[in-house]
Amino acid sequence: TQFTELGLAEPVLKAITAEGYTMPTPIQAQAIPVLLKGQDVVGIAQTGTGKTAAFVLPLLSLLATKPSRPAPRTARVLILAPTRELAAQIADSVRAYGSHMRPSVAVVVGGVKPGAQIKAMSRGVDFLIATPGRLLDHMDTKAISLADTTAVVLDEADQMMDLGFMPAIRKVMAAVPMKRQTLLFSATMPKPIRALADDFLRDPVEIAV
Ligand code: AMP
Repeated sequence: TQFTELGLAEPVLKAITAEGYTMPTPIQAQAIPVLLKGQDVVGIAQTGTGKTAAFVLPLLSLLATKPSRPAPRTARVLILAPTRELAAQIADSVRAYGSHMRPSVAVVVGGVKPGAQIKAMSRGVDFLIATPGRLLDHMDTKAISLADTTAVVLDEADQMMDLGFMPAIRKVMAAVPMKRQTLLFSATMPKPIRALADDFLRDPVEIAV
């Protein structure tokens, strides 16, 4: 499979070419067409498989076809990650793969002062990349609302669980409208992660690489 066969939008294909990618990885070849159709996905994949691009490329592509602006203090796409390092890496990927679209991106993680994060979210963002605890803090103070969010990614769900984020994840998910696309990626599928998928994803396509 070539990238050009997957149905991605033109600005996304341009960015992939600029990155020097020639062929999609297996998880990309399997996940991208499913995600472009709007379906939910459970991806069982380790880091290093190209899983970040597997969800960022189709989410960018879907935004490219619906070019509306986010309202103040709202996020169109939410990506939850276990650590600030992973959140920063995902943000870098969104900026790189979105270089021809210039999506607005905010990163919201614990351990730093909240002021700059509040400012970054104040005009609304296309992509909000967050760790669960700090995101909940910002939801409590109304710095961000998820009422307009149309896609959520739970990245490295097993790591988030191991760090004690399961209650926070469930609270966040309860604040996102039911009419949404939900993606869950995890290297392992212990029972609580399976239960999380059962509770918050709708008829997901399961992809294991
Ligand atoms: P990830 O599994 O998302 O952490 O990605 C692992 C690495 O693979 C990252 O450095 C990406 O830049 C790179 N990568 C992702 N997709 C491709 C691809 N289709 N071709 C070449 N490199 C890729």
